Amino acid sequence: MENQAGCVSCGMPFRSIEDHAMSDPAKDYCRHCARPDGTLKSYDEALTGMSGFFQHTQGVDPAVARKMAAETMAHQPAWRGRQPAR
Ligand SMILES: [Zn+2]
Repeated sequence: MENQAGCVSCGMPFRSIEDHAMSDPAKDYCRHCARPDGTLKSYDEALTGMSGFFQHTQGVDPAVARKMAAETMAHQPAWRGRQPAR
């Protein structure tokens, strides 16, 4: 896999400055993974956001989307090894 800079939380590649949180290239997470004040979302907040993304884009059930999101996030530097609380 190409070693391209991407969000440490969701893996989205940065294609422009605007993709970074607060349009700040020093931040290694994207605008989708940032709170309105520019800080990184918590694990649960990011998981919820990504679950919604999978539900919307892939039309899967909420439980399936949450599992997909958890598996994706387990490979991201920000959340490596984390698992959702049951
Ligand atoms: Zn992100």
